[in-house]
Amino acid sequence: MPELPEVETVVRTLNRSIKGQVITNVQVDYPKLLKNVGSISEFKAQLEHQPIHNVTRRGKYLIFAIGDFYLVNHLRMEGKWFFEPIETLYDHKHVLLQIELDDGNVLRFHDTRRFGTLDLRDRDTVMTTNPLAKLGPEPFSDEFTSAWLMAKAKNKNVAIKTFLLDQTVVVGVGNIYASEICFYAAIRPEKPVKFLDSDDWDTIVAGTRSILAEAIQHGGTTVSTFESSKNVHGMYFEQLKVYGRKGQPCLECQTPIAKIKLNQRGTYYCGYCQKF
Ligand SMILES: [Zn+2]
Repeated sequence: MPELPEVETVVRTLNRSIKGQVITNVQVDYPKLLKNVGSISEFKAQLEHQPIHNVTRRGKYLIFAIGDFYLVNHLRMEGKWFFEPIETLYDHKHVLLQIELDDGNVLRFHDTRRFGTLDLRDRDTVMTTNPLAKLGPEPFSDEFTSAWLMAKAKNKNVAIKTFLLDQTVVVGVGNIYASEICFYAAIRPEKPVKFLDSDDWDTIVAGTRSILAEAIQHGGTTVSTFESSKNVHGMYFEQLKVYGRKGQPCLECQTPIAKIKLNQRGTYYCGYCQKF
């Protein structure tokens, strides 16, 4: 599943292709994809002949500002946006939405699993209603501090890695980067958050920012199926210190990297560098 660096890479790629274009036609191939939408014809009327102002991101959500509306999209497991000439042959079974643009290209939402979501919101409600309303701070914002994390963690028994996945704690961190952040902070992923001190939280804040920023610079991580668009793969995969490295030597101490299941999610750590 794409995490913040992958979604940020998609945002940057999309803005290069579609920002400022006018939508000429919208084709809905899978109506169940749409939420908070009246009828399909109403949805088309709201977007057609409208300009795409830009694409932004909040957490792992893409936000398309179109005319007076916002399309809020979560890619979930397999969602991808393809920008291509309209005559390009496409996978009819897995393309769920097509947005035709005035330069003769089309933006196709491709999702083999159909777990992706698309909410239509207006200016007054986009930030105050689901899915964006309950999100926690952005990792690069001033609100993301060790004091915030310590307050959220108070008296909680939840494991630090699981805590970092909670999008009300901080947005954008998913399964890959949560393991990497725990390694950066030299803390075992299973350690309950109530036992972390302010130095630990300072390191977690610094590690979250540093790892996500570096991953953005590398265009995200390529793991199984992530692509920011066709033929663009993230390069951060080669920078991962623990994720996906079960049995391989730790880059700091040569101890083989361990893999466990934590809350049903594959979790990687170095048993020597990371303390419980
Ligand atoms: Zn180690």
